Amino acid sequence: MKTIQESSREVPLLCEEMDVIVIGGGAAGIGAAISAARNGAKTIIIERFGFFGGSQTAAFDDSFAWVDDRIQGGIVQEIMDDIIAAGMNHKNSPGQVRDHWANEFGSIFFDGEYYKYLVDNLMEKAGVKVVFHALAADAIVDGDSLKGVIIESLEGRQAVLGKTIIDCTGIAHIAWKSGASVTGENGYPDNRFGPFEGMHMGLGYGFFVRNIDYHKFREFAQANPEQWDYWVKGKELFTKARAEGKLYSPRNSCLLTEYEDGRAWIINPYYKLEKGQHPWQVEVVSHAEKDMRKQAWSCWELLKDNVPGFENSRIEQTPSCALLRDGHRIVGEYTLKEEDMYGARTFEDSVSICNMPPDLFFPDGSHHFKFNVTPYDIPYRCLLSKDFDNLLAAGGTSSLDFITWGAIRYCTPSLTTGQAAGAAAAIAVKDGVSPKDVDVRKVQRQLNNQGMLTTNKQVPPEVVAEYARRAEEWGDGFKISE
Ligand SMILES: Cc1cc2nc3c(=O)[nH]c(=O)nc-3n(C[C@H](O)[C@H](O)[C@H](O)COP(=O)(O)OP(=O)(O)OC[C@H]3O[C@@H](n4cnc5c(N)ncnc54)[C@H](O)[C@@H]3O)c2cc1C
Repeated sequence: MKTIQESSREVPLLCEEMDVIVIGGGAAGIGAAISAARNGAKTIIIERFGFFGGSQTAAFDDSFAWVDDRIQGGIVQEIMDDIIAAGMNHKNSPGQVRDHWANEFGSIFFDGEYYKYLVDNLMEKAGVKVVFHALAADAIVDGDSLKGVIIESLEGRQAVLGKTIIDCTGIAHIAWKSGASVTGENGYPDNRFGPFEGMHMGLGYGFFVRNIDYHKFREFAQANPEQWDYWVKGKELFTKARAEGKLYSPRNSCLLTEYEDGRAWIINPYYKLEKGQHPWQVEVVSHAEKDMRKQAWSCWELLKDNVPGFENSRIEQTPSCALLRDGHRIVGEYTLKEEDMYGARTFEDSVSICNMPPDLFFPDGSHHFKFNVTPYDIPYRCLLSKDFDNLLAAGGTSSLDFITWGAIRYCTPSLTTGQAAGAAAAIAVKDGVSPKDVDVRKVQRQLNNQGMLTTNKQVPPEVVAEYARRAEEWGDGFKISE
């Protein structure tokens, strides 16, 4: 690769003496920043977009999956309660996972615009300094500690200095830049996935269509339940259209959620990353964005021309960015493993509980989701970089094997691990120790006092039994191939 020499320069300080610097304003960063500030830390959050929510708002995944007040609690529950009280959840998603057992899905879907506004207010109330439209481009390293980050915005490069950094980028961007040990670089870590070894999961997103005739579509769906009244829709139509060259998409179906207000959320676009391609390569994502937009238009045209209720529809919006499913994750003091998850192992230093099974998308676009877990612990050591004593991570950036990563990257565990990391960072500052040396029992107590459960030992046995029964009943889950 050809290079040029960049000249050295003075970089102005945007701020110094912050206690906690949170990078990324998705679910993980929201939990981390609010928690750190509420626990008394002088906190800044740096987000490259002009709003919070990350993939939830930027890539239209406006949902939290498997929220269960008997398992999580804390900030995620507070957000859910607010959304429901404001009437901003979609009608068919009432909230708690137990309200969904009769259906198949445990997600609550809500109004993404309200969520952006709600999180602005929560940040303001907690006293978090918010910096939007700034990319944390590099880490400032000093021995085995990080001193801060360099940000890039329209103002140019600036420095932000502080005691602890929590990487909530979803792709361990700052950990990677700092030189800390990271994994995920080569995608699938072992030979378990055969031809996919060394490849990343592809990119994807959902887009919104407006002006559908909801009642006409519902009538059609109920008359054709196999094809249209399940979340995975249109298998026959999509397969045939692809075979005839009338659909530009790698997928033989779509995920479609229709709403009474005439909107539909459609997940179909998928961009395969070839061996050797990485989701952080700018030319790769540039091509992916254009390709997926082409897919979205092709998918909508197919629906408009063939599906009752879609005749007068329009594409309302494709998202501001593709979802980068896997990038890097930190290598922490402990890496959560598949057997820990399936064995529902308890850990003395657990700071969060997860009830999500893994959800993996394969390079050929196939996707198999099976609900097959009971609640399991996430130890604090998974949030701690093994290399830097003041670098924490949350959500999919944490130290996880590939399978547990497929679960903990989801929004609800991202937020709860963020809340745990934020509390730990704040307690470390108060106690004058590094996050690596913080008294984890203090962190657990504080989280419990703030309404969050921290270990599956706190989950009543009848709730665990309910999950085990559901896992048994779930069967083969759902599959989307190609
Ligand atoms: C179409 C789709 C469907 C999905 N379905 C579900 C679902 O049903 N349920 C579910 O729970 N999850 C689902 N997911 C996944 C879920 O949205 C993500 O796993 C989750 O949002 C991860 O949260 P996060 O905070 O770790 O990362 P993200 O949401 O990716 O947030 C990271 C944030 O960091 C910012 N950022 C990154 N790097 C930098 C940097 N260097 N400087 C400054 N800012 C930076 C980004 O702009 C972003 O706002 C879906 C995602 C998509 C797109």
